[in-house]
Amino acid sequence: MRKKIVAGNWKMNKTYSEAIALVGDIVGSSYDESVQLIVIPPAFYVSEIAKISSSTNVGVGVQNLSEHDSGAFTGELSSKMIQSVGAQYALVGHSERREYFNEKNSDLALKVNQLLADDLTPIYCCGEVLEEREKGNHFNLVKSQIEEGLFHLDKDQMLKTVIAYEPVWAIGTGVTASSDQAQEMHHFIRGLVANKYGVDTADSISILYGGSCKPTNAKELFANADVDGGLIGGASLNAADFIAIANSF
Ligand code: PEP
Repeated sequence: MRKKIVAGNWKMNKTYSEAIALVGDIVGSSYDESVQLIVIPPAFYVSEIAKISSSTNVGVGVQNLSEHDSGAFTGELSSKMIQSVGAQYALVGHSERREYFNEKNSDLALKVNQLLADDLTPIYCCGEVLEEREKGNHFNLVKSQIEEGLFHLDKDQMLKTVIAYEPVWAIGTGVTASSDQAQEMHHFIRGLVANKYGVDTADSISILYGGSCKPTNAKELFANADVDGGLIGGASLNAADFIAIANSF
């Protein structure tokens, strides 16, 4: 049985005291314990948030990391640093990183390697912009993101990885992929993994949907056979909404 996961990407939001209050509200809520909750605050706050959530079912992640091990990379954070403050997860290749920071699949493959070497779980993001979908190129594009970012891994490493499909046209726009569109792409991604690593591996990997997922549409999205949860942006900034999404399976 693969894991059900709901992860909240807080992006560049919340002051320190707001962030501490938010995680306090989340860990103090009642939620379905079979769902792995993950909060992904600004890296600054991770150390304290990891302490608050340490005895709970709420995991902690970061939004980005360096592809390098250590050294003269001003402003960067390494996977060892992230692990040393108690985080367990990291987003890799969120569409905002790809778009604004020009991150390429080949850079992302290195970041995935860093995380796995330090026993952290990559949440590898993929997804097409609207123009690619309108051209009918969305499957090819997602295929190359998955192949170039992940398919150098061996089977054991692949099993430790989470994939998040986030159509860029649905992120922060209020437009959600339809349930059928989400299922179609998740099924396609699982098929890619099955072709490369076998059906057992593909069946064990969690594939999350992201893009304007809210309490009002989470149930329909999560009901799909290949949708194992969500990567939540805006709605993760409010504890009640985040928990309502986690309770939507
Ligand atoms: C995201 O940025 O990963 C995301 C899914 O954002 P939103 O839920 O706000 O669309």
